[in-house]
Amino acid sequence: MLPNRVIAEKRDGRDLDAEVLRGFLRGYLEGRVEEYQMAAMLMAVVFRGLTPTELDTLLEVMLRSGEVLEWPGASGPVVDKHSTGGVGDKVSLALAPLAAEMGLVVPMISGRGLGHTTGTLDKLEAIPGFRTDLSLPEFRRVVSTLGVGMIGQTPEIAPLDRRLYALRSATATVPAIPLIAASIMSKKLAEGLEGLLLDVKVGDGAFLPGLEEARHLAGTMVELGARRGIRTSALLTAMDRPLGRAIGNALETAEAIECLKGEGPADLEELVIVELVEMMVAGGLCGADTASRDAAAERGREALSSGAGLERFRRLVEAQGGDPHAVERPNLLPSAPVVVPVLAPESGVVGPVATRRLGDLVAELGGGRRTLGDSIDPSVGVVLKVRPGDRVDAGQVLAEVHAGTADGGDWAASIVSGAMPVVPGDSADPGPEGLPLVVERVAFPEG
Ligand code: URA
Repeated sequence: MLPNRVIAEKRDGRDLDAEVLRGFLRGYLEGRVEEYQMAAMLMAVVFRGLTPTELDTLLEVMLRSGEVLEWPGASGPVVDKHSTGGVGDKVSLALAPLAAEMGLVVPMISGRGLGHTTGTLDKLEAIPGFRTDLSLPEFRRVVSTLGVGMIGQTPEIAPLDRRLYALRSATATVPAIPLIAASIMSKKLAEGLEGLLLDVKVGDGAFLPGLEEARHLAGTMVELGARRGIRTSALLTAMDRPLGRAIGNALETAEAIECLKGEGPADLEELVIVELVEMMVAGGLCGADTASRDAAAERGREALSSGAGLERFRRLVEAQGGDPHAVERPNLLPSAPVVVPVLAPESGVVGPVATRRLGDLVAELGGGRRTLGDSIDPSVGVVLKVRPGDRVDAGQVLAEVHAGTADGGDWAASIVSGAMPVVPGDSADPGPEGLPLVVERVAFPEG
């Protein structure tokens, strides 16, 4: 069928036969379908959606457009996690080495920060020398030796996703759940996984803030994974406030290291352990019942307090060219020249935090990017000293801004002050309690 006929079918809401859609997508890969035709198709999908069969076909062609990794002789079940990203979300840095310590094999391929969220690759690159651009043979060697490796998408991994994502960014067709689900899952499934955990954030600081849309995305991705025989589950987790205290690349890396020392903020440690257990269930290292989960969580906490997870991370840093001393001495990470405290204007209770605003602010300070080609300053950011619901006295430090210049720091401090309101009196709006850390679990088949 001619490309314009295929587009017209989707435009008019008719289901596309798998062969027809496959032909259209292959035509794009082989240069017979033009960029403008694909852009029109993507816009039709934004309005009309995709049936489960169409979505499966899209995912299959995206996945097979590049290499799908294999792990013959792996020392354990091959399992990874993906987060849709949030403000202060540094879970992967602590979780991946900890999961390897538990006996999982974690070939993690991550992305960069874009917009109001920082990315795993940027946080890792805050460690002097750390290479996220390993070739696939180098990556295979690191994963085979240490049970964990952490790199960026290579040209061999789901190249159709790369092209489509660039086109979607330029044509306002990113926000469509089937397209997002196929994009994320094509990259993750190309890692050659047996199990996958998806952390889908919910709340003001999330990529998709609403609970219904987060649920829809989680369910769509879990089904795509399960249909391919990958044990896939999703956790919907709170992003109506930042995770942990630090926002900004090097600051978040330092906080992830604190977590690996068993000294991280309580919410971060709790989420790392919950996700660890979920990955162990996906890998078959732990039963899905409560007693097995509790025992796995205990093992995870022991690996934090004994320093075993931290040592695995140190070896990972060294294997990927980074300075292993930075793991022991976070003062070797980039630090901003100016630190400005943000003080409580009066006594009261900290109200709901404008999470997305804080994420945007860190990007505006130079810690994030508008387009994927922008460079970033890893040292800037914000460190929260109090949480929503905490009682504070007038003049108490609410947060610290880490900035490149004094003017930038003062400007950012005024924004943080507005984003962290102090409500006079004894109790703030119930908003600060917000969402539970883990809002919901989604898995097919239920288990
Ligand atoms: N992240 C991805 O990898 N793909 C999308 O489409 C959106 C977010």
